[in-house]
Amino acid sequence: MATPATSSAQREDSDRCAACGGPLIGRYYTLIDRPERYCATCIAMRPRCDSCGAPLGPKHWQLHDGRLQCATCHSMAIYDPKLARQIFQETVAHVINQLGLTLNVGVEFRLVDAPTLEEIRAQGDRHPPEGARRTLGLYQRQGHMRVVYVLYGLPRLIFRTTVAHEYAHAWQGERCPLLNDDDLREGFAEWVAYRHLFWIGASKAAHRMLASTHPYRPALERILDLERQLGVQGIIEYIKRAE
Ligand SMILES: [Zn+2]
Ligand SMILES: [Zn+2]
Ligand SMILES: [Zn+2]
Repeated sequence: MATPATSSAQREDSDRCAACGGPLIGRYYTLIDRPERYCATCIAMRPRCDSCGAPLGPKHWQLHDGRLQCATCHSMAIYDPKLARQIFQETVAHVINQLGLTLNVGVEFRLVDAPTLEEIRAQGDRHPPEGARRTLGLYQRQGHMRVVYVLYGLPRLIFRTTVAHEYAHAWQGERCPLLNDDDLREGFAEWVAYRHLFWIGASKAAHRMLASTHPYRPALERILDLERQLGVQGIIEYIKRAE
């Protein structure tokens, strides 16, 4: 995810690597949309934050399931199940207000750790395997149980986008259970998350979704193309009829 900075024009002698604190001489690296700069050694060698991908400095946290978290992500992370449930409900209410994606049956919420989420993912058949990409959340239906699972310790914005994405899958489960086109399913879920970010004023984070190397990005772009032709409500009607 690290990209070399395009210009060294504003570099000052006092610039230091955000991970090791060493002076930045010659080439340095930044992450998309972030002010921190890193030396080549730290970009190549340091372990990365499991939430944002930044090289970890000496001050970082290890969660009980082994995930590593940088100080910035830690300061915005949701560890408390009560708070998580509150933000889950808020996010769902926003998605319903903004896009009208209501459910008849509703959906439960669980805050889980990484091994638990992996176990649940392995049991399910619907969500496609995501290879090297870490799973942050899941929607799963088991008999009468419909549940959105999300990792604990995610920074707020990542938590919200994960909830919006998985809630979209819950909605698809009710409104278009025959939708088998994975690109459309995932692209639509990403689009719901993308729209949610604008709705809460996090337009920078929304734009970041389009600049990322995320495997779902092409699917999101396909839905945004459709949105330009059909409009927001048109997309929702389109998805309901798609297979
Ligand atoms: Zn460094
Ligand atoms: Zn981080
Ligand atoms: Zn998905």
